[in-house]
Amino acid sequence: MALHDQTRKAVSGDNVEIASRLLAWYDAHHRDLPWRVSPRALAGGARPDPYLVWLSEVMLQQTTVEAVKSYFQAFMQKWPTVQALAAAPTQDVMKAWAGLGYYSRARNLKACADLVARQGGRFPDSESGLKELPGIGAYTAAAIAAIAFDRPAAVVDGNVERVVSRLFSIATPLGEAKGEIRGQVERMVPLTRPGDFAQAMMDLGATICTPRRPRCILCPVRVDCSATISGDPERFPVRLPKAERPLRRGAAFVAVRCDGAILLRKRADKGLLGGMTEVPTTGWTARIDGATTEAAAPLPGNWQQAGRIGHIFTHFALELDVFKAETDVAAPVGHFWSLAHEISGEALPSVMKKVIEAAMPGATKKQRPR
Ligand code: SF4
Repeated sequence: MALHDQTRKAVSGDNVEIASRLLAWYDAHHRDLPWRVSPRALAGGARPDPYLVWLSEVMLQQTTVEAVKSYFQAFMQKWPTVQALAAAPTQDVMKAWAGLGYYSRARNLKACADLVARQGGRFPDSESGLKELPGIGAYTAAAIAAIAFDRPAAVVDGNVERVVSRLFSIATPLGEAKGEIRGQVERMVPLTRPGDFAQAMMDLGATICTPRRPRCILCPVRVDCSATISGDPERFPVRLPKAERPLRRGAAFVAVRCDGAILLRKRADKGLLGGMTEVPTTGWTARIDGATTEAAAPLPGNWQQAGRIGHIFTHFALELDVFKAETDVAAPVGHFWSLAHEISGEALPSVMKKVIEAAMPGATKKQRPR
């Protein structure tokens, strides 16, 4: 603790010097990303498209750059402008989003596009204006304001929290240190190139100051970093032990028609996986009782257990026993048969893809029409 007290301040210089070292590093080592305008292009007069910045930032919430790239490119092909996205049917957007998770983001994305298109297709250029839009919280508003409009906003995501906790050896547990971290970032944000600064911090956290084994030897701000001088940068950020996720259980029912179609239904618009598509399931409870067996199947049939899948949600872990039956009955009210070649295009969240794959390997991959 004494060491932390002695090294609360970055070791050399002030926060402004840290920013200028980071920007020089970013000029040479920034990641090329499909939604990003490089420092060279910016210097040549190119400007970021706020639609691309907004779309990428919403996609990147809780998800990695690598996972987002192909989704971003698919969205760009289908809906190259905010007006095009606003004109798209919501279910098409949900289908294109399927697999990215946190599906309330897709619903908010569509609502935000509708609103921006109605207001002439221009995004607000301030943090406060951006925060008024659906699905844009404090972080996303700051990121868009900085990257798209070069506003000196303090952009603090998980990567930045880690970098700053290490730079300043912040010994307060992360949950309580948010204000302290934000204060340090606010003191660092330069008045020139704040957008590049925000992206430099993100890149540093993603490529050099990684959660495990940070590559301090390559770090442009190592002379400023008290954690690396203390010899144990991985000690930061300090985290309190996580509460264990409760386990919920249920059963899922994959009904297959003789032509390979699968019985599906749409979830309620609100709540977990809202508006997404699923096979019929029981409720997801913490119990193992009759409600998690084939006795709860939505259709009569020769139900056989096909496997068990696990899935981790933010607040709980889920285990689903998967049952399969072949049946040719009409779809019950609220359900529909999805043809074999259409299943890959349905708005199936990852947990449902796992369920279907457990019963019918390969069924969620693209197939030719019969
Ligand atoms: S010196 Fe190491 S710990 Fe410090 S900011 Fe750089 S990579 Fe992170």
